[in-house]
Amino acid sequence: MTNRSTSPHPSVLVVGAGPVGLAAALLLRARGLGVTVLEASARGAPRPGSRAIFLHRQSLATLAGADPALGAALVGRGLVWSARSTHYAGREVHRRTYHPPPVHRAPFSALPQPVIEEELRAACVRAGVDVRWEAPVRSLSSAPDGVLVRTPQDVHRAAYAIGCDGARSAVREAIGVRLRGPRSPHTFIVLDVADDPAHPVPAERVFHYRDPRLGGRNVLIAPFRGGVRVDVQCAGRGGEAAADPDDAAAVAASAADWLPALLPEGHPAAVTWSSRYRFQQAVADSFVDAHGRVLLAGEAGHLFAPFGARGLNSGIADAAAAAGALAEGDVAGYADARRRAATLNRRASGRALTHLTSPWSRAAQRLAAASAPRSRRAGRWLDDAPYGPRDAGIPGSKY
Ligand SMILES: Cc1cc2nc3c(=O)[nH]c(=O)nc-3n(C[C@H](O)[C@H](O)[C@H](O)COP(=O)(O)OP(=O)(O)OC[C@H]3O[C@@H](n4cnc5c(N)ncnc54)[C@H](O)[C@@H]3O)c2cc1C
Repeated sequence: MTNRSTSPHPSVLVVGAGPVGLAAALLLRARGLGVTVLEASARGAPRPGSRAIFLHRQSLATLAGADPALGAALVGRGLVWSARSTHYAGREVHRRTYHPPPVHRAPFSALPQPVIEEELRAACVRAGVDVRWEAPVRSLSSAPDGVLVRTPQDVHRAAYAIGCDGARSAVREAIGVRLRGPRSPHTFIVLDVADDPAHPVPAERVFHYRDPRLGGRNVLIAPFRGGVRVDVQCAGRGGEAAADPDDAAAVAASAADWLPALLPEGHPAAVTWSSRYRFQQAVADSFVDAHGRVLLAGEAGHLFAPFGARGLNSGIADAAAAAGALAEGDVAGYADARRRAATLNRRASGRALTHLTSPWSRAAQRLAAASAPRSRRAGRWLDDAPYGPRDAGIPGSKY
């Protein structure tokens, strides 16, 4: 038998060293539980793109609670926007500026996911977490008294396992759980643009409805430390409701033509990552196996459109809840609470997706934009709605 902790607490296998698996391992260690992480890829394997660029205050506090140096690093290596603005057809309809917050009270941190993962890996080393790289989980079985997990190298037994192995989770499949939910017919282009110190992009989150520079498409510009995220919504142009993936391919391929107009004059607009997505809005049937020995967390349990940054932030909330449940012996409570949270998070990101894509919403946006010069409320609605409701309705948690 391998990986059996000598601590009186149950030993836990975490499958996947993505951000949620690393966070779960760290939070388990902080509660004194023995943990081994099994990760399919090699140590230091490159991870693509900025992906989750927004860690909310709640996530920062959760991680800082396990390792204050981690919390400080995530804030120190990130960016806090000094303003947010919203534009409709090229005209500003809402603006809000912020005073710089004291470092210890950062409301969020905008930094690329590979940096978040680098800091989580460093924190796991400090905490003595045993990470096995190049250890893809090939099979998993559970019984009333524990789990058995096979990798090509080893057979691992433990009291519990947490599946943090992402959207195509082998753990989820092994316990016979399915992810269910629709995929948006609309395609979004996600680009990372490298910073250029000679032409700094203002630290301001900007949303453009019906941007004339992009043929009337919606565009989000979100700076993070080291670069800028540009999200372009394809299809639905000029009131069309149908998806048009070919259109998205053409828009992505012609980024060199339209991107410079969104950046400060002279900015080289060097694209470091380009992707096209049709977002899925899916939740696992169950967050735990039939024996209460295997928990699902992060994208193994749910997929959301990224509006409102509910992906990674809710994964970190899952990780914290899983660590608490295993320390306190309340796996059933975990399954109930986190499935409910995932359903509410999906609803919240779904409202943002509907706002961006439905023809009715476009009509409301046009009216609100016309009212915005006289009505701050109309401008604020245009500014808030692309991210979904702020409070998903989960007691004690934003996510
Ligand atoms: C374009 C885009 C933009 C996004 N923007 C945001 C955002 O702004 N805010 C936000 O909060 N979230 C965002 N997200 C979501 C965020 O990236 C995910 O929520 C996050 O990566 C999920 O982390 P995870 O650890 O659950 O899964 P993953 O990051 O997928 O990690 C899973 C890990 O498990 C490993 N693994 C897989 N199978 C096995 C196996 N059989 N055995 C062992 N290991 C295995 C993988 O190698 C990987 O390391 C975005 C995602 C995308 C794609």
